[in-house]
Amino acid sequence: MKIFYKEIDEDVTPVDTAFSFEDGGETVDVKGFNGDLMKAGEDSYYLRGDISVTLHCKCDRCMKPTDIDLQQKIEVSVQPEIDSSDFADEYEMTDDDGEIYLTDPEFIDLDDILRQEVILQLPLKRLCSNDCAGVEHKEEKETPTRSPLAALEALKNK
Ligand SMILES: [Zn+2]
Repeated sequence: MKIFYKEIDEDVTPVDTAFSFEDGGETVDVKGFNGDLMKAGEDSYYLRGDISVTLHCKCDRCMKPTDIDLQQKIEVSVQPEIDSSDFADEYEMTDDDGEIYLTDPEFIDLDDILRQEVILQLPLKRLCSNDCAGVEHKEEKETPTRSPLAALEALKNK
């Protein structure tokens, strides 16, 4: 979702979006973002809101596909990148601290900012549940063993 700077005429603009993206072979569903884009000064904005995410991944212990639901708070500063060599150094410095997103001079790519924020906050440990027992060996025990006696019984009953 693109938000054009010239169309922002309120001090506080409600924004919402939903989308999906791939990250390292995993699918991340951004089920919903609801927030506000606030004017913080000349060419300076503040994006704040709540995001609801489902990460489709594999459990680290049992390797089964699992979905992890996450709720995150988003709080970032957004500035259009001014195409001027006078400001270039200054803006590059602010970019390094990771809290200010420099955008296209014309518009904010909301989904792109949210995607980067979500990736930063994805859990390192992916578990289907906190008490996941790991790879289960039960299945081996449960498979019926073909004993010669059982085979004989089966023949008798025919
Ligand atoms: Zn598991």
